[in-house]
Amino acid sequence: MTPERYAKILRVLSRRQPTLTVLMDEVNKPHNLSAIVRTCDAVGVLQAHAVPPRGGRLADFEGHTFEATSGSAHKWVPVQRHENAVQAVRELQAQGFSVLATHLSQRSVDYREPDYTRPTCVLLGAEKWGVSDEAAEAADLNIVVPMFGMVQSLNVSVAAATILFEAQRQRLAAGLYDSPQLDQAALRAWAFEWAYPDLAPAYRERGEAYPALDEHGQIVGG
Ligand code: SAM
Repeated sequence: MTPERYAKILRVLSRRQPTLTVLMDEVNKPHNLSAIVRTCDAVGVLQAHAVPPRGGRLADFEGHTFEATSGSAHKWVPVQRHENAVQAVRELQAQGFSVLATHLSQRSVDYREPDYTRPTCVLLGAEKWGVSDEAAEAADLNIVVPMFGMVQSLNVSVAAATILFEAQRQRLAAGLYDSPQLDQAALRAWAFEWAYPDLAPAYRERGEAYPALDEHGQIVGG
């Protein structure tokens, strides 16, 4: 771990937005999954969520089928697996997130209308059938990117990027990238995991706290 690398880790973590996330509901093409996670990294999403596609494997969400072109973004944005979308929506709502389903319905609003400075989860649907009616109903709001062309929908990763960069725009204006949104203990834990990905699992398995790091990212007493 070089001091420069550790400084970059701290800089990135100090801009992470634990109150902004996505829930991918059966997004099944690896290049779309990778592109969405890459955008999540760029806007500062701390953790993403996904319901695997029908017949999908857990491994799909543990990095094995992410495309190399993602620039390894999945290393910096863990994807938490859920069994079904409605359940996941309810869990995220119970954690205080307002869930915005990307879904055309009578109650859909333009994606620029919601206040993304509040805890927000953007629910994205499968390439073939989109967000299910049940999940869209369980969501707090339905949003759309207005379409004026011949084609009815965007690629899911393009829709995700459009919406997440609106969230970034609002959060930048509100100063949410100016100071860490993670508390100090969480920031230190994430920093250890990013700096020492090979050591961190052993500490977790033993139920031990991560060791302290000095200002250069070296393990204190290590
Ligand atoms: N036939 C599907 C349907 O009726 O929903 C199309 C799914 S679309 C290709 C895949 C996903 O991209 C959608 O579920 C949504 O998450 C996102 N998406 C595509 N176009 C969108 C738009 N105009 N506004 C918001 N989200 C969009």
